Amino acid sequence: MSAAKTYSISCPECGHSQQVELYDSINVAQQPELKTALMENRLNRVQCAGCEASFRVDKPLLYHDADRNILIHWMPDSAVSREEILDEFDKSMEELRTALPADMEPPRVRLVFTRVELVELVFIIEAGMEERVVEHIKYTIHSQNMNRVPPAEKQLLLNVQDSTTDELIFAVMGAENGELEDILRYPREAYRSMQKMYRDNPDEFIELFPGPYISARERLRSEAEEENEQ
Ligand SMILES: [Zn+2]
Repeated sequence: MSAAKTYSISCPECGHSQQVELYDSINVAQQPELKTALMENRLNRVQCAGCEASFRVDKPLLYHDADRNILIHWMPDSAVSREEILDEFDKSMEELRTALPADMEPPRVRLVFTRVELVELVFIIEAGMEERVVEHIKYTIHSQNMNRVPPAEKQLLLNVQDSTTDELIFAVMGAENGELEDILRYPREAYRSMQKMYRDNPDEFIELFPGPYISARERLRSEAEEENEQ
Protein backbone atom coordinates (compact mmCIF):
# COMPACT_ATOMS: atom_id res chain seq x y z
CA MET A 1 0.00 0.00 0.00
CA SER A 2 1.15 3.48 -0.77
CA ALA A 3 0.55 6.04 1.94
CA ALA A 4 0.19 9.81 1.86
CA LYS A 5 -0.39 12.34 4.63
CA THR A 6 -1.25 16.02 4.82
CA TYR A 7 1.65 18.30 5.66
CA SER A 8 1.90 22.00 6.26
CA ILE A 9 4.59 23.30 3.90
CA SER A 10 6.03 26.78 3.46
CA CYS A 11 7.04 27.96 0.01
CA PRO A 12 10.84 28.47 -0.26
CA GLU A 13 10.24 31.42 -2.62
CA CYS A 14 7.57 33.52 -0.89
CA GLY A 15 6.98 31.82 2.49
CA HIS A 16 3.28 31.15 1.80
CA SER A 17 2.13 28.23 3.94
CA GLN A 18 -0.29 25.61 2.65
CA GLN A 19 -1.60 22.12 3.38
CA VAL A 20 -0.42 19.51 0.89
CA GLU A 21 -0.68 15.76 0.46
CA LEU A 22 2.75 14.11 0.33
CA TYR A 23 3.70 10.47 0.00
CA ASP A 24 5.39 8.73 2.95
CA SER A 25 5.63 5.46 1.07
CA ILE A 26 5.03 4.21 -2.44
CA ASN A 27 4.24 0.66 -3.46
CA VAL A 28 5.45 0.60 -7.04
CA ALA A 29 4.22 -2.92 -7.79
CA GLN A 30 0.66 -1.78 -7.09
CA GLN A 31 1.03 1.78 -8.37
CA PRO A 32 3.71 1.93 -11.07
CA GLU A 33 2.54 5.46 -11.93
CA LEU A 34 4.09 6.63 -8.65
CA LYS A 35 7.43 5.19 -9.70
CA THR A 36 7.13 7.09 -12.98
CA ALA A 37 6.37 10.27 -11.03
CA LEU A 38 9.45 9.70 -8.87
CA MET A 39 11.71 9.03 -11.86
CA GLU A 40 10.37 12.11 -13.66
CA ASN A 41 10.92 14.27 -10.58
CA ARG A 42 7.19 14.90 -10.09
CA LEU A 43 6.65 13.02 -6.82
CA ASN A 44 6.02 15.12 -3.70
CA ARG A 45 6.16 18.26 -5.79
CA VAL A 46 4.12 21.24 -4.69
CA GLN A 47 2.86 24.24 -6.58
CA CYS A 48 2.63 27.30 -4.35
CA ALA A 49 -0.85 28.83 -4.24
CA GLY A 50 0.72 32.22 -3.45
CA CYS A 51 3.42 32.71 -6.11
CA GLU A 52 2.92 29.59 -8.29
CA ALA A 53 6.51 28.44 -7.75
CA SER A 54 6.94 24.70 -8.13
CA PHE A 55 9.22 22.93 -5.67
CA ARG A 56 9.96 19.41 -4.49
CA VAL A 57 9.64 18.51 -0.83
CA ASP A 58 12.44 16.15 0.18
CA LYS A 59 11.13 14.10 3.08
CA PRO A 60 11.61 10.51 4.20
CA LEU A 61 10.10 8.14 1.65
CA LEU A 62 9.80 4.38 1.62
CA TYR A 63 10.08 2.84 -1.84
CA HIS A 64 8.65 -0.65 -1.89
CA ASP A 65 8.89 -2.98 -4.88
CA ALA A 66 7.14 -6.20 -3.86
CA ASP A 67 7.88 -7.88 -7.22
CA ARG A 68 11.61 -7.56 -6.56
CA ASN A 69 11.25 -7.89 -2.77
CA ILE A 70 13.17 -4.71 -2.07
CA LEU A 71 12.62 -1.79 0.27
CA ILE A 72 14.55 1.43 -0.23
CA HIS A 73 14.40 4.13 2.42
CA TRP A 74 15.16 7.61 1.24
CA MET A 75 16.22 9.62 4.25
CA PRO A 76 17.18 13.19 3.29
CA ASP A 77 19.97 14.09 5.70
CA SER A 78 19.21 17.76 6.11
CA ALA A 79 17.75 17.65 9.61
CA VAL A 80 19.76 14.99 11.44
CA SER A 81 23.23 13.52 10.96
CA ARG A 82 23.82 10.41 8.89
CA GLU A 83 25.04 8.59 11.99
CA GLU A 84 21.73 9.24 13.77
CA ILE A 85 19.84 8.10 10.68
CA LEU A 86 21.87 4.88 10.51
CA ASP A 87 21.28 4.16 14.23
CA GLU A 88 17.58 4.76 13.86
CA PHE A 89 17.60 2.60 10.75
CA ASP A 90 19.25 -0.36 12.48
CA LYS A 91 16.53 -0.27 15.13
CA SER A 92 13.67 -0.26 12.66
CA MET A 93 15.29 -3.11 10.69
CA GLU A 94 15.47 -5.17 13.87
CA GLU A 95 11.76 -4.54 14.42
CA LEU A 96 10.96 -5.51 10.85
CA ARG A 97 12.86 -8.78 11.21
CA THR A 98 11.00 -9.70 14.40
CA ALA A 99 7.65 -8.75 12.88
CA LEU A 100 8.02 -10.92 9.78
CA PRO A 101 6.71 -14.49 9.77
CA ALA A 102 9.59 -16.98 10.03
CA ASP A 103 8.88 -18.59 6.66
CA MET A 104 8.90 -15.29 4.78
CA GLU A 105 12.00 -14.20 2.95
CA PRO A 106 12.97 -10.80 4.37
CA PRO A 107 13.15 -8.04 1.76
CA ARG A 108 16.44 -6.58 0.64
CA VAL A 109 16.67 -3.26 2.44
CA ARG A 110 18.62 -0.28 1.18
CA LEU A 111 19.18 3.25 2.39
CA VAL A 112 19.80 6.34 0.25
CA PHE A 113 20.19 9.99 1.20
CA THR A 114 19.35 11.79 -2.03
CA ARG A 115 16.80 11.49 -4.81
CA VAL A 116 19.52 10.92 -7.43
CA GLU A 117 20.84 7.98 -5.39
CA LEU A 118 17.33 6.55 -5.23
CA VAL A 119 16.74 6.92 -8.96
CA GLU A 120 20.16 5.41 -9.76
CA LEU A 121 19.45 2.44 -7.49
CA VAL A 122 16.04 1.81 -9.05
CA PHE A 123 17.64 1.75 -12.51
CA ILE A 124 20.39 -0.62 -11.31
CA ILE A 125 17.88 -3.02 -9.75
CA GLU A 126 15.59 -2.98 -12.76
CA ALA A 127 18.53 -3.67 -15.10
CA GLY A 128 19.26 -6.79 -13.02
CA MET A 129 22.64 -5.40 -12.01
CA GLU A 130 24.30 -5.81 -8.61
CA GLU A 131 24.58 -2.55 -6.67
CA ARG A 132 27.62 -3.78 -4.72
CA VAL A 133 29.45 -4.54 -7.96
CA VAL A 134 28.58 -1.10 -9.34
CA GLU A 135 29.87 0.55 -6.17
CA HIS A 136 33.00 -1.58 -6.30
CA ILE A 137 33.69 -0.21 -9.78
CA LYS A 138 33.15 3.34 -8.51
CA TYR A 139 35.52 2.57 -5.64
CA THR A 140 38.16 1.54 -8.18
CA ILE A 141 37.56 4.60 -10.39
CA HIS A 142 37.84 6.99 -7.43
CA SER A 143 40.92 5.21 -6.04
CA GLN A 144 42.76 5.27 -9.36
CA ASN A 145 41.83 8.87 -10.23
CA MET A 146 42.08 10.72 -6.91
CA ASN A 147 42.89 13.99 -8.69
CA ARG A 148 40.24 13.81 -11.36
CA VAL A 149 37.44 12.33 -9.20
CA PRO A 150 38.23 13.03 -5.53
CA PRO A 151 35.44 11.38 -3.49
CA ALA A 152 35.15 14.39 -1.18
CA GLU A 153 34.12 16.62 -4.09
CA LYS A 154 32.80 14.40 -6.85
CA GLN A 155 30.07 11.83 -7.02
CA LEU A 156 29.89 9.09 -9.65
CA LEU A 157 26.48 8.00 -10.88
CA LEU A 158 25.91 5.09 -13.18
CA ASN A 159 23.85 6.13 -16.17
CA VAL A 160 22.07 2.85 -16.87
CA GLN A 161 19.98 4.24 -19.72
CA ASP A 162 22.92 5.47 -21.79
CA SER A 163 25.17 2.49 -21.04
CA THR A 164 25.59 -0.02 -23.87
CA THR A 165 26.44 -3.71 -24.10
CA ASP A 166 30.10 -2.68 -24.43
CA GLU A 167 30.39 0.25 -22.05
CA LEU A 168 29.07 1.51 -18.75
CA ILE A 169 28.63 5.26 -18.67
CA PHE A 170 29.31 7.06 -15.39
CA ALA A 171 28.38 10.67 -14.84
CA VAL A 172 30.78 12.71 -12.72
CA MET A 173 28.72 15.12 -10.64
CA GLY A 174 29.79 17.93 -8.34
CA ALA A 175 28.92 16.60 -4.88
CA GLU A 176 27.74 20.01 -3.63
CA ASN A 177 25.94 21.47 -6.62
CA GLY A 178 24.86 18.22 -8.29
CA GLU A 179 25.99 19.49 -11.68
CA LEU A 180 27.18 17.18 -14.43
CA GLU A 181 30.91 17.80 -14.93
CA ASP A 182 32.27 14.89 -16.90
CA ILE A 183 31.55 11.44 -18.33
CA LEU A 184 33.60 8.31 -17.68
CA ARG A 185 33.40 5.06 -19.64
CA TYR A 186 34.07 1.65 -18.19
CA PRO A 187 34.17 -1.64 -20.11
CA ARG A 188 31.05 -3.76 -19.56
CA GLU A 189 33.25 -6.86 -19.80
CA ALA A 190 35.05 -5.82 -16.60
CA TYR A 191 31.67 -5.41 -14.91
CA ARG A 192 30.67 -8.93 -16.01
CA SER A 193 33.79 -10.57 -14.61
CA MET A 194 33.41 -8.66 -11.35
CA GLN A 195 29.77 -9.71 -11.16
CA LYS A 196 30.86 -13.33 -11.57
CA MET A 197 33.33 -12.86 -8.69
CA TYR A 198 30.53 -11.42 -6.58
CA ARG A 199 28.19 -14.30 -7.32
CA ASP A 200 30.88 -16.90 -6.64
CA ASN A 201 32.09 -15.27 -3.48
CA PRO A 202 30.18 -12.22 -2.20
CA ASP A 203 32.00 -12.00 1.15
CA GLU A 204 34.68 -9.53 0.04
CA PHE A 205 32.04 -7.24 -1.45
CA ILE A 206 29.79 -7.44 1.59
CA GLU A 207 32.75 -6.66 3.81
CA LEU A 208 33.52 -3.56 1.75
CA PHE A 209 29.86 -2.48 1.60
CA PRO A 210 27.99 -4.10 4.50
CA GLY A 211 24.90 -1.95 3.92
CA PRO A 212 22.24 -0.69 4.23
CA TYR A 213 23.89 2.38 2.64
CA ILE A 214 26.04 1.00 -0.18
CA SER A 215 28.28 3.80 -1.37
CA ALA A 216 31.85 3.81 -2.65
CA ARG A 217 32.13 7.49 -1.89
CA GLU A 218 31.03 7.07 1.71
CA ARG A 219 33.40 4.14 2.12
CA LEU A 220 36.37 6.13 0.77
CA ARG A 221 35.54 9.12 2.90
CA SER A 222 35.40 7.05 6.08
CA GLU A 223 38.69 5.39 5.11
CA ALA A 224 40.24 8.84 4.67
CA GLU A 225 38.88 9.93 8.06
CA GLU A 226 40.34 6.88 9.76
CA GLU A 227 43.72 7.62 8.19
CA ASN A 228 43.61 11.19 9.45
CA GLU A 229 42.87 10.02 12.97
CA GLN A 230 45.93 7.76 13.06
ZN1 LIG B 1 5.30 30.86 -3.08
